[in-house]
Amino acid sequence: MQTLAGRVAVVTGGARGIGLATVRRFLAEGAQVAVWDLDPGEAAAGLRDSHTGAEVLSAAVDVRDATAVRQAARNIVERTGRIDILVNNAGTTVGFVPAVQLTEDAWRSVVDTNLGGALHCTQAVVPFMARQRWGRIINVSSVLAEYGTPGHTAYVATKAGLVGMTKVWAREFGPSGITVNAVRPGYIVTAMNAGNPPQLVEQVLARTPLGRLGEPDDVASLFRFLCSDEAGFITGAVVPVDGGLIA
Ligand code: NDP
Repeated sequence: MQTLAGRVAVVTGGARGIGLATVRRFLAEGAQVAVWDLDPGEAAAGLRDSHTGAEVLSAAVDVRDATAVRQAARNIVERTGRIDILVNNAGTTVGFVPAVQLTEDAWRSVVDTNLGGALHCTQAVVPFMARQRWGRIINVSSVLAEYGTPGHTAYVATKAGLVGMTKVWAREFGPSGITVNAVRPGYIVTAMNAGNPPQLVEQVLARTPLGRLGEPDDVASLFRFLCSDEAGFITGAVVPVDGGLIA
């Protein structure tokens, strides 16, 4: 049985990494999927909804731009009549920068994307979800929200902030039939952390009970479940997918 048949999902940052794995998984589960990314590129082009045969709706959308995000949401509803699922996955980091050296521009770029982007996308889709009295929103936090990793002030602040926003929105939108959950991935092998030194990877592996790094599909599987009807009584939760890294 396809668990997302008939659903329309928006995946931000869906051009690669965890987002692209999510697009593939949602399509396999029968959803129609829209990708909002700075450059949606070729990766999701040509992928099709396995249920309806519909193509992925890709749009170049900067989630920092509230006006562009609102227009992109209206475009989807004009095409499909609905929006059921939002995965606030687009994210960025400026790498290792000690707090005293963090520039205003670097701080703003991370906050505007990771927090501002999630806010804009959520504001844009909630009116449609509320009209349907059904919606699923997932905010992508991080294992780093749990402890103060040196050199990552802005990233950690935003990923912890997303947990707070998740709890507020679970309460605000629950009465409209919308669930809001945060997912807290551990170390997932994607372009975002491709530049990490081998020593760091060894340390992570040594502290991970399941003895391997995560794959984008590990995260996409959890998203699929949280967006299904089966997860209808789960909201305001922060769900880890980290191989036990901070168990
Ligand atoms: P990637 O860097 O591989 O992909 C992120 C995607 O988001 C890219 O396609 C990027 O576009 C896009 N993006 C960035 N800024 C914007 C913007 N302003 N508007 C629209 N799209 C944007 O990241 P991952 O797949 O690794 O990570 C996905 C999410 O998971 C992120 O929120 C990340 O913080 C989180 N996460 C990742 C972990 C990991 O170990 N990989 C661990 C914990 C959390 P472009 O390439 O053009 O910049």
